[in-house]
Amino acid sequence: MNKLTPQPGIMDIALYQGGAAHVKGVENVIKLSSNENPFGPSPKAIDAVRDSAADLHRYPSTDHGPLRAAIGAQHGLAPDRIICGVGSDEVLQFVVQCYAGVGDEVIYTEHGFSMYPILARAAGAVPVQVPERDRMVDVDAILSACTDRTRVVFLTNPGNPTSTMIPEAEVMRLAAGLPERVILVVDGAYTEYVDGFDGGAAVVDAHENVIMTRTFSKIYGLGGMRVGWGYAPKAIIDVLNRVRQPFNLSATALAAAEAAVHDQGYVEHCRSENSRLGAWLAEELAKLGVPSDPSNTNFILARFADQAEAEACDAYLQQQGLIVRRVAGYNLPNALRITVGDEVACHRVAQAITEFKERNK
Ligand code: PMP
Repeated sequence: MNKLTPQPGIMDIALYQGGAAHVKGVENVIKLSSNENPFGPSPKAIDAVRDSAADLHRYPSTDHGPLRAAIGAQHGLAPDRIICGVGSDEVLQFVVQCYAGVGDEVIYTEHGFSMYPILARAAGAVPVQVPERDRMVDVDAILSACTDRTRVVFLTNPGNPTSTMIPEAEVMRLAAGLPERVILVVDGAYTEYVDGFDGGAAVVDAHENVIMTRTFSKIYGLGGMRVGWGYAPKAIIDVLNRVRQPFNLSATALAAAEAAVHDQGYVEHCRSENSRLGAWLAEELAKLGVPSDPSNTNFILARFADQAEAEACDAYLQQQGLIVRRVAGYNLPNALRITVGDEVACHRVAQAITEFKERNK
């Protein structure tokens, strides 16, 4: 044993579990546990990756100018108010690193994304979990949980793993009610699955202390490339850029993301296929007595009678080569989070849960 002492909070972080794409002894496995796009990225993004190989001896852009310009043009946002990160995880990390320190409090909600408490602990801050109501974020509960030590509040809209949507008026009410020394993070990883939703950009525009984060890992199908971005007032972007490594994004990742933004026809195709297949799967599961809230994302939060049934179904799905996500760690012990896959995947899930229900009658 060495005599090194990690910083406060570090040893309280559990090592990340999940991400497995294999089940021992089972063939034809389909991974439906990480909300990846089953159709992959735009073919134009794949071409851009190939083309980027010609310049691999060069360092990539340090200011991500072309990608920020493409994102800005697509969303009607000022490029100088955008920052890009290695996945939106990195942008979230910049926020906590810059604004919370030892002894400060970071608020996240009962079913909030698992990275939030991890990032808080990594900064020596205290993660404070606030209850939700029926899988919906409770703005009043967040406001009353704020103390003098609160520095960051995390929201996910639409939620993961709940898939529920916080109405914009509620997000505005929260932003208006928070002290100005608290930064509100509106995490819009699944924004593009909600037709016409701006991900929280209007809330950012109305306040000095709000940042919206977005990702290329979901509808853009580029989880393997690790690209995310944030949109915030210039003063916040200026702070975050100080801790960003100059070459945080690879040339290949930048090229892929830029090409993907330019192919909105492909995004539209993925959105409509996801909504068609997601609605079908939710309906099939409901017929089997497995309800879910209306999905605003590319996954369904399937609710079982109790924890034992959810665990047994998870085990059965695994035997059938279907990897889904247990969400007991998100205070949802009775539920399984199932990514909406392609046609074949959705039919296999419906079939396997039908069999599971038959066997357990
Ligand atoms: N926020 C939420 C709510 C997510 O579900 C995810 C991915 N699971 C992320 C952020 C991080 O995404 P990435 O780092 O791949 O952009």
